Amino acid sequence: MADAALLRSLYELQRIDARLVDLERQVGAARETLAAARRLREAERAFREAALALQNAERELKAAEHRTAQLRAKLKQVETRLYDGSVRNPRELQALQTEAESLRRRLDDAEDEAVHLLLTYEQIEARYLDAMHTLERVRNAWFEERQRLEREIQAWEAEIATLREQRTWWEQRIPPSLREQYEHLRRTRGGLAVAEVREGVCTACGAALNAALRQQVYRRELAFCDSCGRILYPVD
Ligand SMILES: [Zn+2]
Repeated sequence: MADAALLRSLYELQRIDARLVDLERQVGAARETLAAARRLREAERAFREAALALQNAERELKAAEHRTAQLRAKLKQVETRLYDGSVRNPRELQALQTEAESLRRRLDDAEDEAVHLLLTYEQIEARYLDAMHTLERVRNAWFEERQRLEREIQAWEAEIATLREQRTWWEQRIPPSLREQYEHLRRTRGGLAVAEVREGVCTACGAALNAALRQQVYRRELAFCDSCGRILYPVD
C-alpha cells in the first residue's frame, strides 16, 4: 500500500480514537449525573419519615383530646350530683367536693397538654408539607434530567458503534507492524500518534521540520517527527 493511503488510514484511526475517548468520557459523566437518583431516594425517605412523625403526633393529640373530654364529662357528673340536691350527707358532699377539685386540676393539666400537643402537631405538619413539596420538586427535576440524559446517552452510544465500525475498516488497511507502532505512540504520546503538520511545523510538539522531512511529509510519505516521534500528516 502506498504511503499516502497508509497515512490517511493512520490519520483516520487517530481521529476516531480521539473522538472515542471524548465520547466515553461524556457517557461516564452522564452516568454519574444519573446518580442524582440518589437525591430522589433521599427526598422520598425524608417524606416517609415526616409522614410517620405526623401520624404519631396526630395519635397523641387525639388521645389527649379524648382524655380531656373524659375528664370534662366526669367533672360534669360530679358537679351535677353536688348541686342537684340529691346528696345531703355532709361527709358525702365533702367527698364529692374534693373529687370535683381533683378533677378540675386534672382537667386543667390535660387541657394544657392538649394545647402543647396541638402546637407540636402544627410544627410537625409544617415539616411534613415541606418534605412533600421538596419531594415533588426533586421528582420533577429528576424525571426531566433522566429523559434528557437517556436521549444523550442513546445518541452517544449510536455514535460510538458507528465509530467502532469505521475504526475497524481503517485499521484493516494498516499492516500489523505499523498498527503496533501507532498504538505504541498513542500509549506513550498522550493519546496522540499522528500529528498534523501545518506550514512545515509539527502541531503536536511545535518543532519545525527540516527541509528533507518537510518534503517527505508533503509528498505524503510515511515520516516521523524528529522531535516528538509522532507520525506526520500534512493538513495544509
Ligand atoms: Zn513533533
